[in-house]
Amino acid sequence: MIEVSHLTRRYGNRCAVEDLSFSVPAGQIVGLLGPNGAGKSTTMNMLTGYLAPTDGTVRIEGCDILDQPLEARRKIGYLPEIPPLYADMKVNEQLSFVAQLRGIPKKDRAAEIAAAAGQAGVEDVMDRLIGNLSKGYRQRVGLAAALIGHPPFLILDEPTVGLDPKQMIEMRALIRELGKSHTVLISSHILSEVSAVCDHVLILSGGKLVASGTPAELARAAAGHLCWQITVQGSESDARAAVAGVDSALEVQAKATDDGLLLSITSPDDTDRRAALSCALVQAGCPILAMAEQRMSLEDVFLQLIEPEGEQQSEPDEAEQEEEAE
Ligand code: ATP
Repeated sequence: MIEVSHLTRRYGNRCAVEDLSFSVPAGQIVGLLGPNGAGKSTTMNMLTGYLAPTDGTVRIEGCDILDQPLEARRKIGYLPEIPPLYADMKVNEQLSFVAQLRGIPKKDRAAEIAAAAGQAGVEDVMDRLIGNLSKGYRQRVGLAAALIGHPPFLILDEPTVGLDPKQMIEMRALIRELGKSHTVLISSHILSEVSAVCDHVLILSGGKLVASGTPAELARAAAGHLCWQITVQGSESDARAAVAGVDSALEVQAKATDDGLLLSITSPDDTDRRAALSCALVQAGCPILAMAEQRMSLEDVFLQLIEPEGEQQSEPDEAEQEEEAE
């Protein structure tokens, strides 16, 4: 089990990850989902001991990543967003280099490398230069490197970024296969990817955990919201008062259009309030010209939960980068 407790990372006065707590139970594939700049890489770098947290703890099967770094890191295979591979090495040279770094005894190295290469599907490119491989194969070599030493936990940062659709499908199938023998945490900004691959999804936005559940639970929660688009005649204040009279928990946005006043009403639950809204609006002197019901999809919920992109993609300023470089 990976246990993350109150994890926080600040860069200057910007909080990249704020008070994050979650666990990854053994045997699961867990997805860390969030838009660019949400804090996924920062979180993964702290989980794997590459970045010190400002606050909070990470335990890998009970080993604290800061207090017992060697023991904790031995349990983890990490594929960073840009795999650290040497373009001028052949695949077998790269894997043997990683095996040495991971302290695999010389007599076991060949078998270890063959097993990792087999799992990642790179046996047929062992004698090729990494610089000449396709992006998809380079990702697989990075994955093979992460698998060396049989770590029970795999942490994969955006493993399908930059791959073509066929390579993406292959990589997802490979992750599902690895999930049968490993506990996996993958990050992604693609909702359909985590829904398809993961047992559990954590949604990160602006460095904070904003939702957590199985894809089915999140979809059920999404289905629980109802939205109505109602075009009426009459004044905005009368229309708002009528909607509030039906249920003060209904959220209303109003916009004047050429066809009339367009009300976008969101309900926090799945009670059908169309009849009550019709009566209330008509009684308030706002006859209805059109009404449509829309159920929120998982995509809608994701978009509603995450902060506007601009806030998440802000670039670090020079002073902050210098601080990090130190
Ligand atoms: P992406 O999918 O684009 O990689 P992400 O979800 O992995 O995004 P992070 O890379 O963890 O997000 O970045 C989170 C926030 O921290 C961003 O606002 C980013 O600008 C900021 N940040 C990351 N690294 C540094 C740094 N070295 N110095 C200052 N700010 C940083």
